[in-house]
Amino acid sequence: MTLPNIDSAYLTNFLVDLLNIPSPTGFTEDAIAFVEKELSDFPQLKLNRTRKGALVAVWEGQKSDSPRALTAHVDTLGAMVKEIKSSGRLSITRIGGLLLPAVETEGCWVHTSKGEKIRGSLLVNKASGHVHGVKAMETKRDEDGMEIRLDAKVSSVDDVKDLGIQVGDFISFDPRVELTNGFIRSRFLDDKACVAVIVAAIKYLADSGKQPTQTTYFHISNYEEVGHGASAGIPAEVTELIAVDMAAVGAGQTSDEFHATICVKDSGGPYHHGLSNKLRELADTHEIPYKVDIYPYYGSDGEAFWRAGGDVAVALIGPGVDASHNYERTHTEALEATTNWILAYLLSD
Ligand SMILES: [Zn+2]
Repeated sequence: MTLPNIDSAYLTNFLVDLLNIPSPTGFTEDAIAFVEKELSDFPQLKLNRTRKGALVAVWEGQKSDSPRALTAHVDTLGAMVKEIKSSGRLSITRIGGLLLPAVETEGCWVHTSKGEKIRGSLLVNKASGHVHGVKAMETKRDEDGMEIRLDAKVSSVDDVKDLGIQVGDFISFDPRVELTNGFIRSRFLDDKACVAVIVAAIKYLADSGKQPTQTTYFHISNYEEVGHGASAGIPAEVTELIAVDMAAVGAGQTSDEFHATICVKDSGGPYHHGLSNKLRELADTHEIPYKVDIYPYYGSDGEAFWRAGGDVAVALIGPGVDASHNYERTHTEALEATTNWILAYLLSD
């Protein structure tokens, strides 16, 4: 079996567009709609939304005696307005494991409940070097020590409310996407890189005129970063679930930005040995560059489905992403390796 050709420009372009759509957990409608629109180009797919807002595409296979599923999540880290301060600044509460020092001074949008967007940035409370001197360095980068400065003439609670801003409004941080020498540097490659990989795999398979061996569900999750994304939306007849999510790169890890990784254990314990081995054999057969790794601080949507009672084999693969939940970076080689791995799986017996 030869794998379909990969056109990595399609993958990269789709990824950049998706990265630029704000989608903190709980505020994923635009990103889900964007993926849905792209997938609606493929008549092979039947599209559905779950009540929770996830997107599920099903592609009928040559067989359907052992249906499969893949999941990747479109939701990202972000924040919400916690309090409007008397100064007109906003204090925030984090969504997911947002690392606040990683978004210090970053531009952001406050999304009001009426659909307006107000521009601002996140700063430490004692920001001015000329006012606070060395205290500007020493202030702790946490929810108490940081605030949103709106790019609007506001100096009171009422001024801010007049803009339509309320407690509970979503805040999205700029991804700051940059492409250099095959590297993709951006926030929220976790897990938009893998959503792009799945969409690209579907396109390459469709363009080649092939069909998955088994009926396959593609689940685009919208609550992963808070731990329960794929707990719903995977049909009960599914026998194997591949969570496609970023591989953790850093000291002590085997993963890197030029390989795909199969994670055999993370904070939730070991993945399914049989399915993991099947994926390793496929990667060996097709000479897909991959690593085997263990992630120390990590949970996946595969485990979310297990915890919800899902009776399936679960494995986790994905591209190496450096500095995850921080200012992330990967390389097209890792994305291509992951895409080929998914194609090999879709076409496998
Ligand atoms: Zn993730």
